[in-house]
Amino acid sequence: MIDIGANLAGKSFSADLPEVLARARQHSVEQIIVTGSDLESSQRAIDLSNKHPGLLYATAGIHPHTASEFSDATAGTLEQMLARDCVVAIGETGLDFNRNYSSQAAQTRSFEAHLELAESIDKPLFLHERDAFTAFYACMQKHPALCKRAVVHCFTGNRQALHAYLELGMHIGITGWICDKKRGRRLRTIVRDIPLERFMIETDAPYLIPNKEQLAPLLAKPHRNEPWTLQYTLAQLAEAIDFDVELLGEKTTANTRKFFNLPTT
Ligand SMILES: [Zn+2]
Repeated sequence: MIDIGANLAGKSFSADLPEVLARARQHSVEQIIVTGSDLESSQRAIDLSNKHPGLLYATAGIHPHTASEFSDATAGTLEQMLARDCVVAIGETGLDFNRNYSSQAAQTRSFEAHLELAESIDKPLFLHERDAFTAFYACMQKHPALCKRAVVHCFTGNRQALHAYLELGMHIGITGWICDKKRGRRLRTIVRDIPLERFMIETDAPYLIPNKEQLAPLLAKPHRNEPWTLQYTLAQLAEAIDFDVELLGEKTTANTRKFFNLPTT
């Protein structure tokens, strides 16, 4: 399995990352893409990837929450980061109108700047959309070629949004959200509409612990998700689409390698 989104550059992992990575490998997580969500975490994701070549890769981008920090200088720094081989995607970027930590105007400006950058370089997009379907779709629709190289990570939207993204050619990232009894119900139903070659899986660690009640006692820190739990998301997804779990693991891994151009281990 490959975890396409883990926030390992964050503070919650700074004390025991080697143990976290060892546990991931013990549980068949072969590679992990470390999410960059601002300049600092993107740089840290690069540093971690250099320290663990072949195991960790990085994204570089500005999360919609911190979009108000985006400037022309930011774009230049991101461009330099994206020239590195270990940086396999632009992002995370997108729109989050659920929290609006940055204004919607600032989020849209930052998102469009990322898309422009993506047009000029040969790397895929790692995207975030929460409660912002209409505006997000309007932005992406203007970039048909980019859509075919974009993943909507941690998809939690409705069937209409899912179909719109699939029609644009996007990939879909599934997290432990799908394991949540209540909140995950809609997702468990609509994932059946996703073609096999569009699936990727992720933990979004330290967030979104799958099967929280069952797993919390097994975690090194009870409120911190880790990449080793990825198998639970895979298993729940396999059950939801009525597909063999091993084969689905192979399929999502192959999809991920192709999408991010990752070497085999
Ligand atoms: Zn996100």
